[in-house]
Amino acid sequence: MSKVPFTKTQIAELIKKYPTPFYIYEEAGIRQATNDLARSFSWNKGFKQYFAVKATPNPSILEILKEEGSGADCSSLPELLLSKKVGITGENIMFTSNDTPAEEFVKARELGAIINLDDIRHIEFLEKNAGLPELLSFRYNPGTSRKGNAIIGNPAEAKFGMTREQILESYAIARKKGVKRFGLHTMVATSQLQTEYLVMNAKMLFALAHEIREKTGVEFEFINLGGGLGIPYRPEQKAIDIKAISAGVREVYEEAVQKGLMPPVKIFTECGRYITGPYGYLVSTVRHMKETYKKYVGLDACMANLMRPALYGAYHHITVLGKENMPSNNTYDVVGSLCENNDKFAIDRKLPEMEPEDIVVFHDAGAHGHAMGFNYNGKLRSAEFLLSPSGEFKMIRRAETSDDYFATLSF
Ligand SMILES: *Cc1c(COP(=O)(O)O)cnc(C)c1O
Repeated sequence: MSKVPFTKTQIAELIKKYPTPFYIYEEAGIRQATNDLARSFSWNKGFKQYFAVKATPNPSILEILKEEGSGADCSSLPELLLSKKVGITGENIMFTSNDTPAEEFVKARELGAIINLDDIRHIEFLEKNAGLPELLSFRYNPGTSRKGNAIIGNPAEAKFGMTREQILESYAIARKKGVKRFGLHTMVATSQLQTEYLVMNAKMLFALAHEIREKTGVEFEFINLGGGLGIPYRPEQKAIDIKAISAGVREVYEEAVQKGLMPPVKIFTECGRYITGPYGYLVSTVRHMKETYKKYVGLDACMANLMRPALYGAYHHITVLGKENMPSNNTYDVVGSLCENNDKFAIDRKLPEMEPEDIVVFHDAGAHGHAMGFNYNGKLRSAEFLLSPSGEFKMIRRAETSDDYFATLSF
């Protein structure tokens, strides 16, 4: 759980001009996380982190990441366009999608992105619709040999990637069709706080790379360990130790290279949550208090602004600005105004005594937060602000208005 990097006075000032709810992203933290990851893996020549654009799809954020040397992991046409807009192109884009429409493959090819195929049948589909590139990667699904988690599911039940047999065959087919350069990818789980998670991914992929090499003659240029690094959402959780993770990956990497299982390869990651998660905050104001069979705090934000609690039962820590040092001796459900009873940010949460006009901050909302927003019940998406290292707030997305809501209607 991150510490709020702004004061109540600053927010009260901002609210005068821009009503809540809104998101704030802390630029310094995002830069630091990207740097920490890159520095930890600097032992690997060619290491690259591709930011999972879906986590925080705002070009101002992507621009910062680009400055820090990050690439972009895209999975849709608009995400490809966002990357292009900030000048992330060519092999600085990893295109990992599933159930992919032809035009997205065409755009990915046009931008020179690395295409990472989700299915063996996509080889032919890609060839037919966009032509086969010189460099191709495939996504592995380890099935029952690995455990996933509640968000992404158990690998054997997950719709992503291919089986061992399929991936072996895919490389053989691609090679026969003239593909010259190869990568290997997996994304097993998300929100992982154990050091072993990424190390296990590495170990599994290095062994698989060896098998593929033996059976098909394919030499790998890169191995993409995926994203999925977790962040401590709860106060009692500890942040992952990126240096320890990197050291663990290095150990299995060096062992594989020394044993001659594979030649040196570039290691890629595609983290989203780890990079922006802890550095984004949803700020909202208490509208009404209500007491029936339970006590409710009603906010001006709802699950359309932050869906994770309703979608996964996710925990987001709450700070009530100006009440940080008061005892949390009241139990509330913190809710929004959607006509859905799962529109609850927190259930039975211990908080200080609350009242209308209190300003509430949800922590760790920087990834998969604003991005998951929707317009159900006529709810409008909020503004986003970037907090610069010098303490200024810059609007990087305005709030939607009713005009935006009507914009797509033919009426
Ligand atoms: C969502 C996603 C990621 C990023 O996941 P995090 O848990 O945010 O790190 C990476 N790769 C793929 C293919 C994804 O779908």
